[in-house]
Amino acid sequence: MKFSFYGAARSVTGSRHLLEVPGFRLLFDCGLFQGRREEAVRRNRDLGFEPKSVAAVLLSHAHIDHSGILPVLPRQGFSGKVYLTRASADLAGIMLEDSARVQENDCRYVNKQEKRRGKTCIHPFYDGDDVKKIAKRFEGSRYGEQLKIAPRVTASFHDAGHILGSAAVRVKYTARGNTTTVLFSGDLGRSHMPILRDPEPPPPCDVLILESTYGDRLHEQPGEEMKKKAQDLIAHAREHRSKIIVPAFAVGRTRHPECYDEETLKTFSSGGDVFASRYIRFISSPEDSKRLNAMRGPCVIISSSGMCEGGRVIHHLKHAIQDEANVIMFVGFQAEHTLGRKLVEGWDVVPIFGVPTKRRAQIVKLNGLSAHADRNDLLAYVRAISPRPSTIFIVHGEEKQALSLGAAIQAEHPKIDVRIPHQSSTHEV
Ligand SMILES: [Zn+2]
Ligand SMILES: [Zn+2]
Repeated sequence: MKFSFYGAARSVTGSRHLLEVPGFRLLFDCGLFQGRREEAVRRNRDLGFEPKSVAAVLLSHAHIDHSGILPVLPRQGFSGKVYLTRASADLAGIMLEDSARVQENDCRYVNKQEKRRGKTCIHPFYDGDDVKKIAKRFEGSRYGEQLKIAPRVTASFHDAGHILGSAAVRVKYTARGNTTTVLFSGDLGRSHMPILRDPEPPPPCDVLILESTYGDRLHEQPGEEMKKKAQDLIAHAREHRSKIIVPAFAVGRTRHPECYDEETLKTFSSGGDVFASRYIRFISSPEDSKRLNAMRGPCVIISSSGMCEGGRVIHHLKHAIQDEANVIMFVGFQAEHTLGRKLVEGWDVVPIFGVPTKRRAQIVKLNGLSAHADRNDLLAYVRAISPRPSTIFIVHGEEKQALSLGAAIQAEHPKIDVRIPHQSSTHEV
């Protein structure tokens, strides 16, 4: 069995892992790389492997850093299926359409400015037609269902409790009476969080590909302290009639009751709507978005993308960032070299659409709302696999996080072969 890592290797974005067995190649995830513009263009134009040679894609979840470059596959000769959970199929369809629109708008906006400076134009990676083509190849399945994806290969999805439809993906390969099982964790969620069910205990596997986003960090619990922090911010916005901008992954209101936890199901079955409130308005058109920029606070604007690397949130930031009464609140992980990361690190001047812009708005980080497992959760996940895997690949974490988690796993389980793959490296197991 051969494993090649073409993204999210010692980094967090652009999740793409290729698994090769005799006569069959499959890809776990096909994510968009986000980061410095030149690097993003290079890594999203050249995927690192031949899509033509890949027979199937298994998608862990709909987040763009896992699904966002899928639409280029058919143009590059991919003719297989994309296996994913049913909720992911709906969600990925919506998110990829949104991503195509966002790329188109961002390119138009940037090109207008670049032309003035005599620079070359940039182009979207794909358009709405490409999204339709790849969506036709989606094969939505239920959690736990055994899928035969090739004569000697089966696959199944196991609830990862991270976002709607998210899954750890298990692949079984049988040859000459021997079965080898690979488990790809995807992004793992946390237990006892609202709305979604807790991650399922991991099924047995020989090889584990494990995420490490928070490989050396522990989250604060989403308790009273965090509630107080949020209340203080809202009081501040009220007093100053200012805005709180929350960059977030667009997850929409797709309803898939099979993914919800008991509490949420109860709310729905008693006729309630967990998302409904007379204070919440859903806005979809760019015109309405623009009106928000002109509007005075107090208000909370939740807008994509989560790492401020595209999408309308950049326009909202552009309008709000220079006012010290405004607040930019981060609830998710910010990858290296993204605008979100620069803001979280407290940069005073940040590039917005390539223009250095003074930041006066307050930056707040709420880690307790993270949809990612922390170091203890990840260690517990490995401990829960019985019997233990013989090999673990640590992915989807910046180098420091991946190395730290790798060392902790190795110390606890000396017999496991723990590897931290480099970008574009191939490993035989
Ligand atoms: Zn994710
Ligand atoms: Zn991710």
